[in-house]
Amino acid sequence: MNEKILKNIRQVEPYVPGEQPQTKVIKLNTNENPYPPAPGVQKAMVQFDTDRLRLYPDPTADTLVSAIAKHYEVNKEQVFVGVGSDDVLAMCFLTFFNSEKPIFFPDITYSFYDVWAELYRIPYECQPVDENFKIRKEDYYKENGGVIFPNPNAPTAIYEELDFVEDVIAHNQDVIVIVDEAYIDFAGKSALELIDKYENLIVVQTFSKSRSMAGMRIGYAISNPTLIKYLNDAKYSFNSYTMNQPSLVYGVEAVKDQAYFEETIRKIKETREWTKKELSKLGFTFPDSQANFIFAMHPDVEALELFEALKKEGIYVRFWGSKRIEQYMRITVGTQEEMETLITFLKKYLNK
Ligand SMILES: *Cc1c(COP(=O)(O)O)cnc(C)c1O
Repeated sequence: MNEKILKNIRQVEPYVPGEQPQTKVIKLNTNENPYPPAPGVQKAMVQFDTDRLRLYPDPTADTLVSAIAKHYEVNKEQVFVGVGSDDVLAMCFLTFFNSEKPIFFPDITYSFYDVWAELYRIPYECQPVDENFKIRKEDYYKENGGVIFPNPNAPTAIYEELDFVEDVIAHNQDVIVIVDEAYIDFAGKSALELIDKYENLIVVQTFSKSRSMAGMRIGYAISNPTLIKYLNDAKYSFNSYTMNQPSLVYGVEAVKDQAYFEETIRKIKETREWTKKELSKLGFTFPDSQANFIFAMHPDVEALELFEALKKEGIYVRFWGSKRIEQYMRITVGTQEEMETLITFLKKYLNK
C-alpha cells in the first residue's frame, strides 16, 4: 500500500486471545468458568421482552451500577461499568495515564497492558518479576506515571496479601494505581477495602470469571466519585451506549445470587487444590495458585510438546512460548471431571 497512507495509520500489535474452538473440547485455555451463570440469569433470559431492543439502553446503566454498588456497599457514584473489564481497563488507561513519565507494570502479566499503552501512546516500563515470578514491590517505588498490576497476577496465579498491595498504593500517591482483580474471588482480600483510604486507587473486577459471564461482557471499576466521574466523562465523549439492554438485566441477576456464587467458587477452589496435588505428583512445578488457573511446567518435557499433545487429545490449555515463560503452560481449572480427564491423560503421556 501507498507509503503515505500507511504513515497516517495507527498501527498496533494486537492482543492475541486464546482459541475459541467451535467443536466440543475440554476447554482449559481462557480461564472461563466451567459452571453456568446463576439460575436467575436463565430465567431472565426466557422472560426478556425483545421489544426493549428497539430502545437505546440507559447510558448510565443505572440498574446494573446500583446492583453492583449495593453488593459491594459503596455509593452508585463509585461504580463504573463497561463491556468486560477489558473495556473498563482500556478506558482507565486513556483517562488516567497521561503523564510523560512511564507507567509501570510487571514484565510477566496480562498481555493487554502493553497493547493499550502502545495504542494510546503511553510510555511504559515493565518491572521484571523475580525468579519465582513474584512482583517486587520496591520496583514500583520509583517515580512513574501510574501503576497497574493484576492481583492475583496473570498468568502466574500468584496472589499478594493486602498489605503488599497497600504498600504499592501508599508509595504512589501522586499517580493512579489500578489493581486488576479479575481473579480476586478465587483468592483473598480485595483492595476494595482501601478505596476510602487512598484517593489514587481504582479496583477493576469482572463478571467473566467468578460469575460465569465471559460471553456477556460485563466489567466494572470501583473508586472514589471523582475518579469515576472522569471515567464516565471519557466514556460519554465517544460512546454513551456501551452496555446493551440484555447485559443490564442479566448482570443484575448474576450479582444478586450470593449463595450460587459462593458454591461455584467453592467447587472451583476444591478442584484447583486437587489438581495442584495431582500435578505435583506427576512432577510438575508451579507457583502456588490462588486463581482459577495453574501456571505449570514439567522439568522433563517441553511445554510446547505437552501443549500440542493435549490439543491432539481435545484438551486445550494456553501456551505462549514467550521470553521467560517458554517452559510454562497455563491450565484453567475446569470441572472436577474435566481435570480428572486431564490428569489421566498426563499420567499416560508421562508414563507414570
Ligand atoms: C480475563 C481478564 C481480564 C478481562 O476480562 P473481561 O472478560 O474483559 O472482563 C482482565 N484482566 C485480567 C488479568 C484477566 O485475566
